[in-house]
Amino acid sequence: MPRPIVLTEEMKQKAKNDFATMLDNTKMTNGKFSYNKSFKYEDGNVTVWITTEAYRKILALVMEFSDEVGWHATVTRDGDSEFTIDDIFVYPQEVTGSTVNTDQTEYTQWLYKLDDETFNKIRMQGHSHVNMGVSPSGVDDKHRQQILEQLDSTMFYIFMIWNKSLTVHTLVYDMARNVLYEEDDVDVRLLGDDDMDEFLADAQEKVQKSGHMKNKHKKENGEQIEIYNEYEDFENSSLFDYSPYYRGGRKWNH
Ligand SMILES: [Zn+2]
Repeated sequence: MPRPIVLTEEMKQKAKNDFATMLDNTKMTNGKFSYNKSFKYEDGNVTVWITTEAYRKILALVMEFSDEVGWHATVTRDGDSEFTIDDIFVYPQEVTGSTVNTDQTEYTQWLYKLDDETFNKIRMQGHSHVNMGVSPSGVDDKHRQQILEQLDSTMFYIFMIWNKSLTVHTLVYDMARNVLYEEDDVDVRLLGDDDMDEFLADAQEKVQKSGHMKNKHKKENGEQIEIYNEYEDFENSSLFDYSPYYRGGRKWNH
């Protein structure tokens, strides 16, 4: 569910009222009192498009580096709910298997060397978690907080974490609309990929889930693994029937 980033007047008033009511009605069992409230919006998704060029660069970085690697991207906003990652830029950094650190001086120098148009469009930080899960780490949370502090109320910023399984965790901070989108709230799509929809729909029609055959892996007598196929409701089958090409009645001409 999308969530607000800053508390609106309405939210603040509601929180104050709730807090006051709790103060009046709480019986403390251990001398402590705490107040916790979470906010969310009912619905609404955003789409993050990635240009082919940017996607190829992300893939190259994620697949080629055996350590963490971080990058920035130029992003264009289109309306309320669409963003396009145009290009990828790698900044000076020191990496280990699980961290990315920036030398502040070198990083700042690098930022200053960017032309104005590019610099103003840098609205994304991405990094790879190599083979690990893509949930943000404690360091990622801190880094995100630092960037968030620098955003004014008209801006947006995207964070992405990838790994070598090409799993991606995406966060979009849309300050202009006061909405934070995370994971399922974000559709990540490849630009120009519309024709893939048709191709995939066609493929999905052709690839049917079969209830006929199950593979069972049985561990017996310690180390021995017995693998056998179990056919259900599939007449005229045998274990050695591996001739699907001929089932349609057409043979290749050699
Ligand atoms: Zn990370």
